[in-house]
Amino acid sequence: CGIVGYIGHREAYPIVIKGLKRLEYRGYDSAGVMLFDDASGVKLCKTKGKVSDLETKAQAELTATGNIGIGHTRWATHGVPNDVNSHPHLSNSGDLVIIHNGIIENYAPLKEELIKRGYTFKSDTDTEVLINLIEEVQKKENIKLGKAVQVALNQVVGAYAIAVFDKKNPNEIVAARLGSPLAIGVGEGEFFIASDASPFIEYTSNAVYLEDGEMANIRLHKPLKVRKIKDDSLVDPYIQELQM
Ligand code: GLU
Repeated sequence: CGIVGYIGHREAYPIVIKGLKRLEYRGYDSAGVMLFDDASGVKLCKTKGKVSDLETKAQAELTATGNIGIGHTRWATHGVPNDVNSHPHLSNSGDLVIIHNGIIENYAPLKEELIKRGYTFKSDTDTEVLINLIEEVQKKENIKLGKAVQVALNQVVGAYAIAVFDKKNPNEIVAARLGSPLAIGVGEGEFFIASDASPFIEYTSNAVYLEDGEMANIRLHKPLKVRKIKDDSLVDPYIQELQM
């Protein structure tokens, strides 16, 4: 299972697809991508099977443009491997998009509570519960994505590496980890996100490895902001020089 993300000035699609291929060694049963551009908004393509199957499907149904993209290879834990359960997942409003590696252990009570509040679910995944929890927090408290992710993650028991996107504020990707790895590549006017550095090593040799319990606001043309999920305290991100 793996995560790839890109925000910057290049076409995101080829970076994300190539990155997913580099992460294939981690094992997976399904794959998916989201691309965003101002003109066409959020575009999703996902499928059971290999990254090469995703490419075939994307060729047929995805006009592959956009400078923001996220991609995922799934190793199913909650819900069978099929197209619908593949990531990315959308929130009920369609504004929020998530990719997730790991397990949300307390998804059942959280899901029950969200259903009471009128939320509906398309997939059987624990991940779709998390993205709707983030949406519910964001709506109730009228806060930005980063803060909503932080509040929601403090209600979650489990393990995760996530990347979350909000089309209302499309210059940002929020990433967080607990128990699953997550690296951020810091380029000039661009950022990369991945389960390890292999998807972005050809583009930048600067990487920040998130520690367990940390999250990052990855914003275009702004410095990387890293903080602790638990208490919101800021962490000075340590930028590591990778050997090319
Ligand atoms: N628990 C999530 C799911 O079953 C993510 C699995 C993964 O790590 O790929 O969809």
